[in-house]
Amino acid sequence: MVLGVATWNMDHWKRLHFGGDKDHLAKAWTYALSIPADVLFVQEAVPPPVALQQRVDSSIPAMDRPDLWRIGTSRRWASAIVKTGTALEMAPVHLAPLADRAKGQMAISHPGSFVVAELTGPNLEPITLISAYGLMEDFNPEIGDSYATTTVNRMLSDLTPLLDSKKGRRVVLGGDLNISDQWRPGTRFARWGPAHNATLSRFASLGLTDALRLMVPAERGPLPGCPCGPTMDCRHVRTQRHGNNAAGLPWQNDYFFVGRDLLEMVRRCEPLGEEAAWALSDHCPVVIEIET
Ligand SMILES: [Zn+2]
Repeated sequence: MVLGVATWNMDHWKRLHFGGDKDHLAKAWTYALSIPADVLFVQEAVPPPVALQQRVDSSIPAMDRPDLWRIGTSRRWASAIVKTGTALEMAPVHLAPLADRAKGQMAISHPGSFVVAELTGPNLEPITLISAYGLMEDFNPEIGDSYATTTVNRMLSDLTPLLDSKKGRRVVLGGDLNISDQWRPGTRFARWGPAHNATLSRFASLGLTDALRLMVPAERGPLPGCPCGPTMDCRHVRTQRHGNNAAGLPWQNDYFFVGRDLLEMVRRCEPLGEEAAWALSDHCPVVIEIET
Protein backbone atom coordinates (compact mmCIF):
# COMPACT_ATOMS: atom_id res chain seq x y z
CA MET A 1 0.00 0.00 0.00
CA VAL A 2 0.96 3.64 -0.32
CA LEU A 3 0.68 5.40 3.03
CA GLY A 4 0.11 9.15 2.80
CA VAL A 5 0.93 11.38 5.77
CA ALA A 6 0.70 15.18 5.90
CA THR A 7 1.90 17.63 8.54
CA TRP A 8 0.66 21.18 9.05
CA ASN A 9 1.12 23.92 11.63
CA MET A 10 -2.42 25.37 11.85
CA ASP A 11 -1.30 28.66 13.44
CA HIS A 12 -4.22 28.56 15.89
CA TRP A 13 -2.84 30.89 18.55
CA LYS A 14 -1.95 33.81 16.27
CA ARG A 15 -5.24 33.52 14.36
CA LEU A 16 -7.14 33.50 17.65
CA HIS A 17 -5.41 36.43 19.29
CA PHE A 18 -4.47 38.86 16.53
CA GLY A 19 -7.78 39.91 15.02
CA GLY A 20 -8.39 36.60 13.37
CA ASP A 21 -11.38 35.46 11.38
CA LYS A 22 -13.99 33.93 13.73
CA ASP A 23 -14.54 31.20 11.18
CA HIS A 24 -10.82 30.42 10.94
CA LEU A 25 -11.05 27.18 12.86
CA ALA A 26 -13.74 25.72 10.60
CA LYS A 27 -11.93 26.92 7.47
CA ALA A 28 -8.57 25.57 8.65
CA TRP A 29 -9.96 22.13 9.54
CA THR A 30 -12.01 21.98 6.33
CA TYR A 31 -8.80 22.59 4.40
CA ALA A 32 -6.72 20.21 6.57
CA LEU A 33 -9.20 17.37 6.08
CA SER A 34 -9.17 17.97 2.32
CA ILE A 35 -5.43 17.16 2.07
CA PRO A 36 -5.17 13.71 0.47
CA ALA A 37 -3.55 11.70 3.29
CA ASP A 38 -4.36 8.71 5.49
CA VAL A 39 -2.99 10.46 8.55
CA LEU A 40 -2.54 14.13 9.38
CA PHE A 41 -0.04 15.53 11.90
CA VAL A 42 -1.00 18.96 13.20
CA GLN A 43 0.75 21.48 15.44
CA GLU A 44 -0.53 24.69 17.09
CA ALA A 45 -3.92 23.00 16.83
CA VAL A 46 -7.18 22.60 18.73
CA PRO A 47 -9.85 19.97 17.97
CA PRO A 48 -11.99 20.39 14.84
CA PRO A 49 -15.42 22.02 15.35
CA VAL A 50 -18.12 19.48 16.21
CA ALA A 51 -19.69 19.84 12.74
CA LEU A 52 -16.48 18.53 11.16
CA GLN A 53 -15.66 15.78 13.65
CA GLN A 54 -17.65 13.17 11.69
CA ARG A 55 -14.96 13.42 8.98
CA VAL A 56 -12.35 12.16 11.48
CA ASP A 57 -12.13 8.47 12.39
CA SER A 58 -9.90 8.97 15.42
CA SER A 59 -7.43 11.42 16.85
CA ILE A 60 -4.76 11.62 19.55
CA PRO A 61 -5.59 13.43 21.80
CA ALA A 62 -9.29 12.59 21.44
CA MET A 63 -11.48 15.28 19.89
CA ASP A 64 -13.78 15.31 22.93
CA ARG A 65 -10.86 16.11 25.25
CA PRO A 66 -9.97 19.70 24.32
CA ASP A 67 -8.34 19.96 27.76
CA LEU A 68 -5.59 17.67 26.43
CA TRP A 69 -4.93 19.88 23.37
CA ARG A 70 -2.71 22.08 25.52
CA ILE A 71 0.99 22.59 26.20
CA GLY A 72 1.54 23.54 29.82
CA THR A 73 -0.83 26.09 31.31
CA SER A 74 -0.35 29.01 28.94
CA ARG A 75 -0.70 27.41 25.52
CA ARG A 76 -4.26 26.40 24.65
CA TRP A 77 -3.22 24.42 21.57
CA ALA A 78 -1.02 21.40 20.97
CA SER A 79 0.32 18.77 18.59
CA ALA A 80 -2.00 15.96 17.50
CA ILE A 81 -2.41 13.09 15.06
CA VAL A 82 -5.65 12.69 13.13
CA LYS A 83 -6.75 9.67 11.05
CA THR A 84 -9.55 10.03 8.54
CA GLY A 85 -10.12 6.59 6.97
CA THR A 86 -11.14 3.37 8.71
CA ALA A 87 -8.81 0.92 6.89
CA LEU A 88 -5.94 1.43 9.34
CA GLU A 89 -5.84 1.19 13.13
CA MET A 90 -4.13 3.82 15.25
CA ALA A 91 -3.29 3.47 18.94
CA PRO A 92 -1.68 6.05 21.21
CA VAL A 93 1.70 5.39 22.82
CA HIS A 94 1.45 6.53 26.42
CA LEU A 95 3.84 9.30 27.40
CA ALA A 96 4.42 10.19 31.04
CA PRO A 97 5.65 13.57 32.31
CA LEU A 98 9.40 13.29 32.81
CA ALA A 99 9.32 13.67 36.59
CA ASP A 100 6.43 11.22 37.15
CA ARG A 101 7.13 8.29 34.87
CA ALA A 102 7.25 4.71 36.05
CA LYS A 103 10.11 2.44 35.03
CA GLY A 104 9.87 1.60 31.33
CA GLN A 105 7.42 4.39 30.45
CA MET A 106 8.33 6.83 27.72
CA ALA A 107 8.93 10.35 29.02
CA ILE A 108 7.74 13.67 27.68
CA SER A 109 9.48 16.81 28.93
CA HIS A 110 6.81 19.17 27.51
CA PRO A 111 3.43 17.35 27.48
CA GLY A 112 1.43 18.31 24.40
CA SER A 113 4.45 19.25 22.30
CA PHE A 114 4.65 15.84 20.66
CA VAL A 115 2.35 12.84 20.19
CA VAL A 116 3.33 9.23 19.45
CA ALA A 117 1.04 6.62 17.87
CA GLU A 118 1.32 3.16 16.41
CA LEU A 119 -0.32 2.57 13.05
CA THR A 120 -1.28 -0.93 11.91
CA GLY A 121 -3.35 -2.43 9.12
CA PRO A 122 -4.06 -5.60 7.17
CA ASN A 123 -1.24 -4.91 4.70
CA LEU A 124 0.91 -2.74 6.90
CA GLU A 125 3.72 -3.76 9.22
CA PRO A 126 3.41 -1.41 12.23
CA ILE A 127 4.71 2.12 11.77
CA THR A 128 5.34 4.53 14.64
CA LEU A 129 4.07 8.06 14.00
CA ILE A 130 5.32 11.18 15.79
CA SER A 131 3.75 14.63 15.37
CA ALA A 132 6.38 17.01 16.72
CA TYR A 133 6.60 20.70 17.60
CA GLY A 134 9.67 22.75 18.45
CA LEU A 135 8.40 24.76 21.37
CA MET A 136 9.98 28.21 21.83
CA GLU A 137 11.06 28.33 25.50
CA ASP A 138 13.85 29.36 27.86
CA PHE A 139 13.70 33.13 27.19
CA ASN A 140 17.11 34.80 27.30
CA PRO A 141 16.73 38.50 28.28
CA GLU A 142 20.22 39.33 27.00
CA ILE A 143 19.20 38.56 23.45
CA GLY A 144 15.45 39.09 23.83
CA ASP A 145 14.60 35.72 22.35
CA SER A 146 13.74 32.13 23.20
CA TYR A 147 15.12 28.85 21.92
CA ALA A 148 13.68 25.84 20.11
CA THR A 149 16.98 23.97 20.31
CA THR A 150 16.46 23.48 24.07
CA THR A 151 13.04 21.85 23.71
CA VAL A 152 13.78 19.85 20.53
CA ASN A 153 16.85 18.38 22.22
CA ARG A 154 14.69 17.44 25.24
CA MET A 155 12.23 15.80 22.83
CA LEU A 156 15.03 13.84 21.19
CA SER A 157 16.21 12.71 24.62
CA ASP A 158 12.66 11.63 25.50
CA LEU A 159 12.42 9.72 22.20
CA THR A 160 15.91 8.16 22.26
CA PRO A 161 14.85 4.77 23.72
CA LEU A 162 12.16 4.49 21.00
CA LEU A 163 14.28 5.74 18.11
CA ASP A 164 17.19 3.51 19.18
CA SER A 165 15.01 0.37 19.03
CA LYS A 166 13.59 -1.93 16.33
CA LYS A 167 10.45 0.25 16.23
CA GLY A 168 12.71 3.24 15.61
CA ARG A 169 13.57 1.78 12.22
CA ARG A 170 9.94 2.31 11.14
CA VAL A 171 9.32 5.81 12.47
CA VAL A 172 7.75 8.72 10.60
CA LEU A 173 8.41 11.95 12.54
CA GLY A 174 7.02 15.20 11.14
CA GLY A 175 6.20 18.69 12.22
CA ASP A 176 7.21 22.28 12.76
CA LEU A 177 10.51 22.13 14.64
CA ASN A 178 11.38 25.85 14.57
CA ILE A 179 14.87 24.61 13.63
CA SER A 180 16.76 25.53 10.48
CA ASP A 181 20.27 25.32 9.07
CA GLN A 182 19.48 28.13 6.59
CA TRP A 183 22.02 30.57 8.01
CA ARG A 184 25.38 31.94 7.07
CA PRO A 185 28.26 33.46 9.06
CA GLY A 186 28.11 37.18 9.69
CA THR A 187 24.32 37.34 9.97
CA ARG A 188 22.21 37.72 13.15
CA PHE A 189 21.19 34.07 13.01
CA ALA A 190 24.84 32.96 13.19
CA ARG A 191 24.56 33.25 17.00
CA TRP A 192 22.10 30.31 17.05
CA GLY A 193 22.96 28.58 13.77
CA PRO A 194 25.61 26.13 15.03
CA ALA A 195 23.20 24.89 17.75
CA HIS A 196 20.53 24.35 15.07
CA ASN A 197 23.01 22.36 12.94
CA ALA A 198 23.95 20.24 15.97
CA THR A 199 20.27 19.59 16.72
CA LEU A 200 19.58 18.44 13.15
CA SER A 201 22.66 16.20 13.40
CA ARG A 202 21.09 14.50 16.41
CA PHE A 203 18.19 13.30 14.22
CA ALA A 204 20.75 11.70 11.90
CA SER A 205 22.65 10.21 14.85
CA LEU A 206 19.44 8.43 15.87
CA GLY A 207 19.03 6.86 12.43
CA LEU A 208 16.53 9.33 10.99
CA THR A 209 16.79 10.75 7.46
CA ASP A 210 15.38 14.13 6.38
CA ALA A 211 12.93 12.96 3.68
CA LEU A 212 12.22 16.47 2.36
CA ARG A 213 15.89 17.07 1.67
CA LEU A 214 16.21 13.59 0.19
CA MET A 215 13.39 14.12 -2.30
CA VAL A 216 14.37 17.52 -3.69
CA PRO A 217 15.02 16.75 -7.38
CA ALA A 218 18.75 16.68 -8.15
CA GLU A 219 18.27 19.13 -11.02
CA ARG A 220 16.33 21.72 -8.96
CA GLY A 221 19.35 23.83 -7.97
CA PRO A 222 19.45 26.17 -4.94
CA LEU A 223 16.18 27.55 -3.55
CA PRO A 224 15.97 31.11 -4.95
CA GLY A 225 16.66 33.68 -2.21
CA CYS A 226 17.46 31.03 0.42
CA PRO A 227 19.11 32.56 3.51
CA CYS A 228 21.75 29.78 3.43
CA GLY A 229 23.41 31.80 0.68
CA PRO A 230 21.97 30.23 -1.32
CA THR A 231 24.84 27.79 -1.48
CA MET A 232 25.25 25.58 -4.54
CA ASP A 233 24.25 22.48 -2.55
CA CYS A 234 21.15 24.16 -1.01
CA ARG A 235 18.39 21.54 -0.64
CA HIS A 236 16.01 23.70 1.38
CA VAL A 237 12.32 24.12 0.60
CA ARG A 238 9.95 26.82 1.74
CA THR A 239 7.38 25.83 4.36
CA GLN A 240 6.89 29.13 6.18
CA ARG A 241 6.04 32.74 5.43
CA HIS A 242 7.03 34.93 8.38
CA GLY A 243 4.31 37.52 8.88
CA ASN A 244 2.40 35.87 6.02
CA ASN A 245 4.72 37.75 3.67
CA ALA A 246 5.13 35.90 0.38
CA ALA A 247 8.01 38.21 -0.55
CA GLY A 248 9.95 37.50 2.68
CA LEU A 249 12.85 35.08 3.11
CA PRO A 250 11.85 31.57 2.01
CA TRP A 251 12.08 29.79 5.36
CA GLN A 252 11.90 26.09 6.26
CA ASN A 253 10.95 25.01 9.77
CA ASP A 254 8.89 21.92 8.86
CA TYR A 255 10.26 18.43 8.28
CA PHE A 256 9.56 14.77 7.77
CA PHE A 257 12.16 12.33 9.10
CA VAL A 258 11.96 8.58 8.45
CA GLY A 259 13.63 5.59 10.10
CA ARG A 260 16.13 3.33 8.33
CA ASP A 261 13.66 0.66 7.18
CA LEU A 262 11.33 3.22 5.53
CA LEU A 263 14.03 5.14 3.70
CA GLU A 264 13.90 3.13 0.48
CA MET A 265 10.07 3.25 0.52
CA VAL A 266 9.70 7.05 0.32
CA ARG A 267 8.07 7.85 -3.04
CA ARG A 268 7.25 11.51 -2.50
CA CYS A 269 7.95 14.22 0.06
CA GLU A 270 7.26 17.88 -0.69
CA PRO A 271 5.61 21.04 0.61
CA LEU A 272 2.05 21.78 -0.54
CA GLY A 273 2.74 25.46 -1.12
CA GLU A 274 -0.77 26.28 -2.28
CA GLU A 275 -2.49 29.59 -1.64
CA ALA A 276 -5.42 27.84 0.08
CA ALA A 277 -2.97 26.83 2.83
CA TRP A 278 -1.08 30.13 3.02
CA ALA A 279 -4.42 31.94 3.44
CA LEU A 280 -5.00 30.01 6.69
CA SER A 281 -1.55 29.70 8.29
CA ASP A 282 1.98 31.06 8.11
CA HIS A 283 3.02 27.46 7.33
CA CYS A 284 2.07 25.28 4.39
CA PRO A 285 1.56 21.53 4.77
CA VAL A 286 4.23 18.98 3.88
CA VAL A 287 3.20 15.59 2.49
CA ILE A 288 5.03 12.27 2.40
CA GLU A 289 4.08 9.05 0.60
CA ILE A 290 5.59 5.74 1.65
CA GLU A 291 5.09 2.60 -0.45
CA THR A 292 5.22 -0.32 1.96
ZN1 LIG B 1 19.25 26.92 1.26
